[in-house]
Amino acid sequence: MIFDGISFMKTYLVTGGCGFIGSNFIHFLIEKGLSNQIINLDKITYAGNEENLNPIEDYDIYHFVKGDICNRQIIKKILYEYKPDVIVHFAAESHVDRSIDGPVRFIETNVVGTLNLLNESNNWLTSMGEKFKKGFKFIHVSTDEVYGSLGKSGLFSEDSPYQPTSPYSASKASSDHLARSWFKTYNFPVIITNCSNNYGPYQFPEKLIPLMIINAISGEDLPIYGKGLNIRDWLYVRDHCEAIQTIIDKGAIGETYNIGGNNEITNIKIVKSICEILDKKIPSKTGNPYAEQIKFVTDRPGHDFRYAIDSSKIKEELGWKPKESFKTGIKKTILWYLNNKDWWKDIQAKVYNQERMGLIK
Ligand code: NAD
Repeated sequence: MIFDGISFMKTYLVTGGCGFIGSNFIHFLIEKGLSNQIINLDKITYAGNEENLNPIEDYDIYHFVKGDICNRQIIKKILYEYKPDVIVHFAAESHVDRSIDGPVRFIETNVVGTLNLLNESNNWLTSMGEKFKKGFKFIHVSTDEVYGSLGKSGLFSEDSPYQPTSPYSASKASSDHLARSWFKTYNFPVIITNCSNNYGPYQFPEKLIPLMIINAISGEDLPIYGKGLNIRDWLYVRDHCEAIQTIIDKGAIGETYNIGGNNEITNIKIVKSICEILDKKIPSKTGNPYAEQIKFVTDRPGHDFRYAIDSSKIKEELGWKPKESFKTGIKKTILWYLNNKDWWKDIQAKVYNQERMGLIK
Protein backbone atom coordinates (compact mmCIF):
# COMPACT_ATOMS: atom_id res chain seq x y z
CA MET A 1 0.00 0.00 0.00
CA ILE A 2 1.33 3.46 -0.84
CA PHE A 3 0.14 6.79 0.62
CA ASP A 4 1.88 10.06 -0.31
CA GLY A 5 4.90 8.18 -1.56
CA ILE A 6 5.27 6.38 1.80
CA SER A 7 4.45 2.71 1.76
CA PHE A 8 3.23 0.73 4.72
CA MET A 9 3.16 -2.91 5.69
CA LYS A 10 6.37 -3.94 4.02
CA THR A 11 8.35 -7.12 4.47
CA TYR A 12 11.54 -6.35 6.36
CA LEU A 13 14.70 -8.42 6.51
CA VAL A 14 16.63 -7.24 9.56
CA THR A 15 20.17 -8.56 10.09
CA GLY A 16 21.54 -8.55 13.64
CA GLY A 17 18.04 -8.16 15.08
CA CYS A 18 19.00 -9.86 18.35
CA GLY A 19 21.56 -7.15 19.14
CA PHE A 20 21.04 -3.80 20.81
CA ILE A 21 19.84 -1.53 18.01
CA GLY A 22 18.37 -4.32 15.87
CA SER A 23 16.07 -5.55 18.64
CA ASN A 24 14.96 -2.00 19.46
CA PHE A 25 14.22 -1.52 15.75
CA ILE A 26 12.11 -4.69 15.55
CA HIS A 27 10.13 -3.65 18.66
CA PHE A 28 9.66 -0.24 17.05
CA LEU A 29 8.35 -1.76 13.79
CA ILE A 30 5.86 -3.92 15.67
CA GLU A 31 4.65 -1.14 17.96
CA LYS A 32 4.09 1.15 14.99
CA GLY A 33 2.47 -1.59 12.88
CA LEU A 34 4.84 -0.85 10.02
CA SER A 35 5.47 -4.34 8.76
CA ASN A 36 3.49 -7.40 7.75
CA GLN A 37 6.55 -9.68 7.98
CA ILE A 38 9.83 -9.28 9.81
CA ILE A 39 12.62 -11.75 9.22
CA ASN A 40 15.48 -11.49 11.70
CA LEU A 41 18.74 -13.08 10.54
CA ASP A 42 21.17 -13.28 13.45
CA LYS A 43 24.11 -15.53 14.22
CA ILE A 44 23.71 -15.04 17.99
CA THR A 45 27.26 -14.11 18.80
CA TYR A 46 28.12 -13.19 22.40
CA ALA A 47 26.24 -9.92 21.74
CA GLY A 48 23.10 -11.47 20.27
CA ASN A 49 20.35 -12.34 22.69
CA GLU A 50 17.10 -13.98 21.62
CA GLU A 51 15.55 -12.82 24.91
CA ASN A 52 15.59 -9.25 23.59
CA LEU A 53 12.65 -10.33 21.44
CA ASN A 54 10.86 -12.52 23.99
CA PRO A 55 7.81 -10.24 24.09
CA ILE A 56 7.13 -10.80 20.37
CA GLU A 57 8.63 -14.20 19.61
CA ASP A 58 5.20 -15.83 19.09
CA TYR A 59 3.84 -13.15 16.75
CA ASP A 60 2.85 -14.57 13.35
CA ILE A 61 4.60 -11.77 11.49
CA TYR A 62 7.96 -12.40 13.20
CA HIS A 63 10.40 -15.03 11.89
CA PHE A 64 13.76 -15.67 13.46
CA VAL A 65 16.48 -17.36 11.39
CA LYS A 66 19.63 -18.27 13.24
CA GLY A 67 22.41 -17.82 10.70
CA ASP A 68 25.59 -16.06 9.68
CA ILE A 69 25.75 -13.30 7.07
CA CYS A 70 28.99 -14.96 5.94
CA ASN A 71 26.85 -17.92 4.77
CA ARG A 72 25.64 -17.06 1.26
CA GLN A 73 23.22 -20.00 1.06
CA ILE A 74 21.23 -18.83 4.08
CA ILE A 75 21.00 -15.31 2.69
CA LYS A 76 19.85 -16.63 -0.69
CA LYS A 77 17.24 -18.89 0.89
CA ILE A 78 15.73 -16.06 2.92
CA LEU A 79 15.64 -13.68 -0.03
CA TYR A 80 13.90 -16.09 -2.40
CA GLU A 81 11.49 -17.31 0.28
CA TYR A 82 10.40 -14.01 1.84
CA LYS A 83 11.11 -11.44 -0.93
CA PRO A 84 11.79 -8.49 1.40
CA ASP A 85 10.90 -4.92 0.38
CA VAL A 86 13.50 -3.55 2.77
CA ILE A 87 16.75 -4.90 4.17
CA VAL A 88 18.08 -3.16 7.27
CA HIS A 89 21.62 -4.34 7.85
CA PHE A 90 22.67 -4.04 11.50
CA ALA A 91 24.63 -7.31 11.91
CA ALA A 92 28.20 -6.55 12.89
CA GLU A 93 30.92 -7.03 15.40
CA SER A 94 30.49 -3.72 17.18
CA HIS A 95 32.88 -3.25 20.10
CA VAL A 96 36.13 -1.32 19.57
CA ASP A 97 37.94 -2.99 22.50
CA ARG A 98 37.15 -6.46 21.14
CA SER A 99 38.40 -5.37 17.71
CA ILE A 100 41.78 -4.61 19.31
CA ASP A 101 41.94 -8.10 20.83
CA GLY A 102 40.56 -10.03 17.82
CA PRO A 103 40.38 -8.03 14.58
CA VAL A 104 39.88 -10.99 12.21
CA ARG A 105 36.26 -11.60 13.24
CA PHE A 106 35.54 -7.95 12.47
CA ILE A 107 36.81 -8.29 8.92
CA GLU A 108 34.91 -11.56 8.45
CA THR A 109 31.52 -10.27 9.59
CA ASN A 110 31.67 -6.55 8.87
CA VAL A 111 33.46 -6.72 5.53
CA VAL A 112 32.97 -10.21 4.06
CA GLY A 113 29.51 -10.64 5.60
CA THR A 114 28.38 -7.27 4.21
CA LEU A 115 29.86 -8.15 0.82
CA ASN A 116 27.85 -11.40 0.77
CA LEU A 117 24.68 -9.63 1.74
CA LEU A 118 25.11 -6.95 -0.94
CA ASN A 119 26.05 -9.43 -3.62
CA GLU A 120 23.32 -11.97 -2.93
CA SER A 121 20.72 -9.22 -2.52
CA ASN A 122 21.70 -7.61 -5.81
CA ASN A 123 21.57 -10.96 -7.69
CA TRP A 124 18.18 -11.77 -6.21
CA LEU A 125 16.79 -8.26 -6.80
CA THR A 126 17.83 -8.38 -10.45
CA SER A 127 15.88 -11.62 -10.80
CA MET A 128 12.78 -9.88 -9.37
CA GLY A 129 12.60 -7.34 -12.21
CA GLU A 130 12.58 -3.53 -12.46
CA LYS A 131 9.10 -2.98 -10.99
CA PHE A 132 9.95 -4.73 -7.72
CA LYS A 133 13.37 -3.05 -7.63
CA LYS A 134 11.75 0.40 -7.69
CA GLY A 135 10.12 -0.18 -4.30
CA PHE A 136 13.13 -1.84 -2.67
CA LYS A 137 15.71 -0.31 -0.27
CA PHE A 138 18.84 -1.66 1.40
CA ILE A 139 19.77 0.36 4.50
CA HIS A 140 23.41 -0.09 5.47
CA VAL A 141 23.73 0.95 9.12
CA SER A 142 27.14 2.38 9.94
CA THR A 143 28.92 4.59 12.41
CA ASP A 144 30.40 8.08 12.69
CA GLU A 145 33.66 6.38 13.72
CA VAL A 146 34.51 5.88 10.03
CA TYR A 147 35.41 9.59 9.89
CA GLY A 148 38.16 9.23 12.50
CA SER A 149 38.71 11.66 15.35
CA LEU A 150 37.92 15.37 15.64
CA GLY A 151 39.87 17.98 17.59
CA LYS A 152 38.10 20.37 19.96
CA SER A 153 35.98 21.94 17.21
CA GLY A 154 34.24 20.95 13.96
CA LEU A 155 31.58 18.40 13.05
CA PHE A 156 31.49 15.37 10.75
CA SER A 157 29.33 15.91 7.69
CA GLU A 158 28.43 13.42 4.97
CA ASP A 159 31.37 14.83 2.96
CA SER A 160 33.99 14.35 5.67
CA PRO A 161 36.87 12.14 4.52
CA TYR A 162 37.09 8.60 5.84
CA GLN A 163 39.92 8.24 8.38
CA PRO A 164 39.12 5.22 10.56
CA THR A 165 41.58 4.49 13.35
CA SER A 166 40.50 1.21 15.02
CA PRO A 167 40.05 -2.25 13.48
CA TYR A 168 36.31 -1.81 14.18
CA SER A 169 35.97 1.54 12.41
CA ALA A 170 38.24 0.39 9.57
CA SER A 171 36.00 -2.65 9.01
CA LYS A 172 32.86 -0.48 9.05
CA ALA A 173 34.52 2.01 6.66
CA SER A 174 35.30 -0.89 4.28
CA SER A 175 31.71 -2.04 4.40
CA ASP A 176 30.48 1.51 3.65
CA HIS A 177 32.76 1.63 0.59
CA LEU A 178 31.38 -1.70 -0.59
CA ALA A 179 27.80 -0.54 -0.12
CA ARG A 180 28.45 2.69 -2.01
CA SER A 181 30.19 0.80 -4.82
CA TRP A 182 27.22 -1.57 -5.20
CA PHE A 183 25.03 1.48 -5.80
CA LYS A 184 27.45 3.14 -8.24
CA THR A 185 28.35 -0.03 -10.15
CA TYR A 186 25.17 -2.12 -10.10
CA ASN A 187 22.59 0.58 -9.36
CA PHE A 188 21.71 -1.46 -6.27
CA PRO A 189 19.32 0.66 -4.12
CA VAL A 190 21.51 1.33 -1.08
CA ILE A 191 21.29 4.10 1.50
CA ILE A 192 24.10 4.47 4.04
CA THR A 193 23.59 5.85 7.54
CA ASN A 194 26.41 6.96 9.83
CA CYS A 195 25.23 7.34 13.37
CA SER A 196 26.75 8.57 16.62
CA ASN A 197 26.88 6.59 19.90
CA ASN A 198 23.57 5.00 20.84
CA TYR A 199 22.30 4.24 24.33
CA GLY A 200 19.09 2.78 25.75
CA PRO A 201 17.41 -0.56 26.60
CA TYR A 202 19.02 -3.89 25.60
CA GLN A 203 22.54 -2.49 25.16
CA PHE A 204 25.12 -5.16 25.88
CA PRO A 205 26.79 -4.47 29.26
CA GLU A 206 30.30 -4.05 27.80
CA LYS A 207 29.39 -0.59 26.49
CA LEU A 208 30.04 2.54 28.59
CA ILE A 209 26.56 3.43 29.85
CA PRO A 210 25.24 -0.02 30.86
CA LEU A 211 28.67 -0.96 32.23
CA MET A 212 28.64 2.05 34.55
CA ILE A 213 25.03 1.56 35.69
CA ILE A 214 25.61 -2.11 36.48
CA ASN A 215 29.02 -1.65 38.12
CA ALA A 216 27.73 1.21 40.25
CA ILE A 217 24.81 -0.66 41.75
CA SER A 218 26.94 -3.82 42.11
CA GLY A 219 29.44 -1.87 44.27
CA GLU A 220 32.23 -2.31 41.68
CA ASP A 221 34.79 0.20 40.37
CA LEU A 222 33.67 2.55 37.60
CA PRO A 223 36.64 2.32 35.21
CA ILE A 224 37.21 5.48 33.15
CA TYR A 225 39.70 5.28 30.29
CA GLY A 226 42.50 7.89 30.51
CA LYS A 227 41.25 11.14 32.01
CA GLY A 228 37.67 10.65 30.86
CA LEU A 229 37.87 13.69 28.59
CA ASN A 230 37.02 11.91 25.32
CA ILE A 231 33.84 13.27 23.80
CA ARG A 232 31.03 11.38 22.06
CA ASP A 233 27.69 12.53 20.67
CA TRP A 234 24.92 10.44 22.29
CA LEU A 235 21.66 9.41 20.64
CA TYR A 236 18.80 7.59 22.36
CA VAL A 237 18.24 4.33 20.47
CA ARG A 238 14.54 4.95 19.83
CA ASP A 239 15.47 8.19 18.04
CA HIS A 240 17.87 6.18 15.89
CA CYS A 241 15.07 3.73 15.02
CA GLU A 242 12.82 6.62 14.00
CA ALA A 243 15.62 8.07 11.87
CA ILE A 244 16.08 4.76 10.05
CA GLN A 245 12.36 4.47 9.40
CA THR A 246 12.29 8.07 8.12
CA ILE A 247 15.09 7.16 5.71
CA ILE A 248 13.21 4.04 4.58
CA ASP A 249 10.13 6.19 3.91
CA LYS A 250 11.72 9.27 2.40
CA GLY A 251 15.48 8.83 1.92
CA ALA A 252 16.99 9.08 -1.55
CA ILE A 253 18.68 6.02 -3.03
CA GLY A 254 22.48 6.26 -3.18
CA GLU A 255 22.61 8.94 -0.46
CA THR A 256 24.37 8.95 2.89
CA TYR A 257 22.70 10.39 6.00
CA ASN A 258 24.49 11.27 9.23
CA ILE A 259 22.41 10.73 12.35
CA GLY A 260 23.36 12.43 15.61
CA GLY A 261 21.83 13.37 18.92
CA ASN A 262 23.18 16.92 19.48
CA ASN A 263 24.52 15.68 22.80
CA GLU A 264 28.29 16.05 22.95
CA ILE A 265 29.43 14.93 26.37
CA THR A 266 32.74 13.84 27.91
CA ASN A 267 32.89 10.30 29.29
CA ILE A 268 33.55 11.55 32.81
CA LYS A 269 30.45 13.77 32.67
CA ILE A 270 28.34 10.82 31.49
CA VAL A 271 29.51 8.70 34.41
CA LYS A 272 29.00 11.47 36.95
CA SER A 273 25.47 12.10 35.72
CA ILE A 274 24.66 8.37 35.98
CA CYS A 275 26.03 8.42 39.54
CA GLU A 276 23.93 11.44 40.48
CA ILE A 277 20.71 9.89 39.18
CA LEU A 278 21.47 6.60 40.95
CA ASP A 279 22.26 8.48 44.21
CA LYS A 280 18.67 9.76 44.15
CA LYS A 281 16.92 6.63 42.88
CA ILE A 282 18.72 3.88 44.71
CA PRO A 283 21.27 5.20 47.27
CA SER A 284 24.27 2.89 47.74
CA LYS A 285 24.31 0.46 50.66
CA THR A 286 27.39 2.21 52.11
CA GLY A 287 25.63 5.57 51.98
CA ASN A 288 28.54 6.98 49.92
CA PRO A 289 27.92 8.72 46.60
CA TYR A 290 28.42 6.35 43.64
CA ALA A 291 30.96 8.79 42.16
CA GLU A 292 33.41 7.59 44.82
CA GLN A 293 33.62 4.30 42.86
CA ILE A 294 35.15 6.11 39.84
CA LYS A 295 38.62 4.82 38.99
CA PHE A 296 40.82 6.18 36.19
CA VAL A 297 42.45 3.34 34.24
CA THR A 298 44.90 2.94 31.33
CA ASP A 299 43.50 4.52 28.18
CA ARG A 300 42.29 2.54 25.14
CA PRO A 301 45.07 2.22 22.52
CA GLY A 302 44.43 4.75 19.73
CA HIS A 303 41.44 6.22 21.61
CA ASP A 304 39.73 8.76 19.32
CA PHE A 305 39.39 12.09 21.12
CA ARG A 306 36.08 13.41 19.83
CA TYR A 307 33.20 12.49 17.53
CA ALA A 308 30.45 14.99 16.71
CA ILE A 309 27.84 14.86 13.98
CA ASP A 310 26.27 17.47 11.78
CA SER A 311 22.82 15.97 11.11
CA SER A 312 21.40 18.95 9.25
CA LYS A 313 20.94 16.91 6.03
CA ILE A 314 18.48 14.40 7.54
CA LYS A 315 16.78 17.22 9.47
CA GLU A 316 16.35 19.56 6.54
CA GLU A 317 15.73 17.06 3.75
CA LEU A 318 13.70 14.40 5.59
CA GLY A 319 12.33 16.26 8.62
CA TRP A 320 13.77 13.97 11.31
CA LYS A 321 15.16 15.24 14.60
CA PRO A 322 15.84 13.48 17.91
CA LYS A 323 13.05 13.65 20.50
CA GLU A 324 15.09 12.79 23.59
CA SER A 325 17.60 15.06 25.29
CA PHE A 326 20.42 13.29 27.12
CA LYS A 327 18.70 14.24 30.39
CA THR A 328 15.48 12.44 29.52
CA GLY A 329 17.09 9.53 27.66
CA ILE A 330 19.56 8.65 30.39
CA LYS A 331 16.79 8.55 33.03
CA LYS A 332 14.76 6.13 30.88
CA THR A 333 17.86 4.02 30.30
CA ILE A 334 18.81 3.82 33.98
CA LEU A 335 15.25 2.88 34.88
CA TRP A 336 15.29 0.10 32.27
CA TYR A 337 18.48 -1.44 33.70
CA LEU A 338 17.10 -1.18 37.24
CA ASN A 339 13.85 -2.88 36.18
CA ASN A 340 15.53 -5.58 34.07
CA LYS A 341 18.18 -6.99 36.37
CA ASP A 342 17.43 -10.56 35.28
CA TRP A 343 18.29 -9.63 31.70
CA TRP A 344 21.82 -8.42 32.51
CA LYS A 345 22.46 -10.88 35.35
CA ASP A 346 21.83 -13.69 32.88
CA ILE A 347 24.41 -12.18 30.49
CA GLN A 348 26.87 -11.83 33.38
CA ALA A 349 26.39 -15.48 34.29
CA LYS A 350 26.71 -16.78 30.73
CA VAL A 351 28.89 -14.58 28.54
CA TYR A 352 30.36 -11.43 30.02
CA ASN A 353 31.21 -10.36 33.54
CA GLN A 354 32.28 -6.72 33.13
CA GLU A 355 35.95 -7.56 32.42
CA ARG A 356 38.35 -5.09 30.72
CA MET A 357 39.28 -5.82 27.10
CA GLY A 358 41.37 -4.18 24.38
CA LEU A 359 44.65 -3.63 26.23
CA ILE A 360 47.79 -4.41 24.28
CA LYS A 361 50.12 -6.40 26.53
P1 NAD B 1 25.41 -5.36 18.80
O1 NAD B 1 26.81 -5.85 18.96
O2 NAD B 1 24.60 -5.10 20.02
O3 NAD B 1 24.57 -6.41 17.91
C1 NAD B 1 25.10 -6.99 16.76
C2 NAD B 1 24.20 -8.15 16.37
O4 NAD B 1 24.71 -8.72 15.16
C3 NAD B 1 24.16 -9.29 17.40
O5 NAD B 1 22.85 -9.71 17.61
C4 NAD B 1 25.00 -10.37 16.77
O6 NAD B 1 24.62 -11.69 17.16
C5 NAD B 1 24.74 -10.14 15.28
N1 NAD B 1 25.84 -10.65 14.43
C6 NAD B 1 27.17 -10.46 14.60
N2 NAD B 1 27.85 -11.10 13.65
C7 NAD B 1 26.93 -11.69 12.84
C8 NAD B 1 27.02 -12.49 11.67
N3 NAD B 1 28.21 -12.82 11.14
N4 NAD B 1 25.87 -12.91 11.09
C9 NAD B 1 24.66 -12.59 11.61
N5 NAD B 1 24.52 -11.85 12.73
C10 NAD B 1 25.64 -11.41 13.34
O7 NAD B 1 25.52 -4.07 17.88
P2 NAD B 1 24.63 -2.74 17.91
O8 NAD B 1 25.18 -1.80 18.90
O9 NAD B 1 23.20 -3.11 17.95
O10 NAD B 1 24.99 -2.15 16.46
C11 NAD B 1 24.21 -2.48 15.32
C12 NAD B 1 24.80 -1.80 14.10
O11 NAD B 1 24.80 -0.39 14.27
C13 NAD B 1 26.25 -2.20 13.81
O12 NAD B 1 26.41 -2.33 12.43
C14 NAD B 1 27.05 -1.02 14.34
O13 NAD B 1 28.27 -0.88 13.64
C15 NAD B 1 26.10 0.12 14.07
N6 NAD B 1 26.23 1.27 14.98
C16 NAD B 1 26.17 1.09 16.33
C17 NAD B 1 26.26 2.19 17.17
C18 NAD B 1 26.16 2.06 18.66
O14 NAD B 1 26.37 3.02 19.38
N7 NAD B 1 25.81 0.90 19.20
C19 NAD B 1 26.44 3.47 16.63
C20 NAD B 1 26.49 3.60 15.23
C21 NAD B 1 26.38 2.51 14.41
